[in-house]
Amino acid sequence: MNYYSLNRKAPNTNFETAVIKGLAPDRGLYFPEKITALPSAFYKNIDSKSYSEIAFEAIKQFICPEIPEHLLKTIIEDTLSFDFPIVNLDENISTLELFHGPTMAFKDVGARFMARCLGYFNQNNNNDITVLVATSGDTGGAVANGFLGVKGVNVVILYPSGKVSNIQEKQLTTLGQNITALEVDGVFDDCQDMVKKAFLDSTITSTMQLTSANSINVARWLPQLFYFMFTYKQLHQQHENIVFSIPSGNFGNICAGMIAQQLGLPVKHFIAANNANNVVTEYLKTEEYHPKPSVQTISNAMDVGNPSNFIRIKEIYKNDFDQLRSNLSSYSYTDNETKSALLEMYKRYNYVADPHGAIGYLGCKDYLKTHHNAHCVFLETAHPTKFLDVVEDVIDTKVDLPPQIQAVMHQEKVALQISNYEQLKTFLLQSVSKT
Ligand SMILES: *Cc1c(COP(=O)(O)O)cnc(C)c1O
Repeated sequence: MNYYSLNRKAPNTNFETAVIKGLAPDRGLYFPEKITALPSAFYKNIDSKSYSEIAFEAIKQFICPEIPEHLLKTIIEDTLSFDFPIVNLDENISTLELFHGPTMAFKDVGARFMARCLGYFNQNNNNDITVLVATSGDTGGAVANGFLGVKGVNVVILYPSGKVSNIQEKQLTTLGQNITALEVDGVFDDCQDMVKKAFLDSTITSTMQLTSANSINVARWLPQLFYFMFTYKQLHQQHENIVFSIPSGNFGNICAGMIAQQLGLPVKHFIAANNANNVVTEYLKTEEYHPKPSVQTISNAMDVGNPSNFIRIKEIYKNDFDQLRSNLSSYSYTDNETKSALLEMYKRYNYVADPHGAIGYLGCKDYLKTHHNAHCVFLETAHPTKFLDVVEDVIDTKVDLPPQIQAVMHQEKVALQISNYEQLKTFLLQSVSKT
């Protein structure tokens, strides 16, 4: 499959180059040249297919022939080595739990898939690829874990000091090997800006092959469409009007859901559930798009002031605002509303959610007020123990630490402190001269 740049000033390229480059030379995000809906038989027979079969059929048009089909099957089977259960809360609301992977956030799927693609493309290459990634919390751990030990790939993770949870920090600073953590004196947007700057810096790009593992990378972004297909498989017999409420930050996950819809998946509507970082909520109200500096919240993986994938969403709906608005609603919630939702779910359903899932739940509730016959699935994007302080405080109960989390809690943090772009640049250039 070929990809074009959404800035339209760079040549089209194939999947391999899109993955290795991350961002097009004109700084545009890559977008698939063609999206072909799957035959209706695919959806009719979905009950008889395994998750791996569903994932393979849904994604192969975007990946092959750059990765041969039989290898794509293996990559998918390796990637999907854990569960995606749906928990039914009541007649109108369910949650899809995306936190059963190694770092207990939904980003595990994209990170594992991308690591395996990159490992395949770089297997016969003598020069290492450097994955440079900014994280607002969960990307770092998922990428570190997904790429750990992949030959020919070094990973450099930037995270905002003091703005990720203790567990998140442990997950990205304790692995060692080919993973380096840089602790940035700043907020997530500073990290993201530094990463973007490095990609444009010819001193760096002429000496090393850099790529991103944020959801701007097509190999991290696209596999997220699986979640929506898996939900349909589990729910289509009970519910006709399936609506998804997606806790959104960079809007990669929700945008992958919209690709699933383009592939013919019957989705009635999408809800972008936001915290106080409400650029998109405001856009849908006013038709004016004003990126803002991010503000810190208790759902920190969504503290994004300028969501990088929103441009892909506009492309899907061909920049037609009315069409976009008929498919997408957006609501924004404060930290206090988020905490009340956590408590309400605990009391009403005996369900312990995390702050991001709680915002998804609130999105469902608001949408259902005017759409009584819909069934709303909110994505539970992280395990509650990743945000232990907030969750335990709100529900006033101890939550057990799952084994994946226990394993990192006692490891020692190793991170390099940086506070500006020049320090990142020096680090990157030194890392090449060492090898
Ligand atoms: C990354 C993340 C999000 C936001 O996902 P986007 O694809 O960036 O919109 C939401 N919740 C959690 C727990 C996350 O880690």
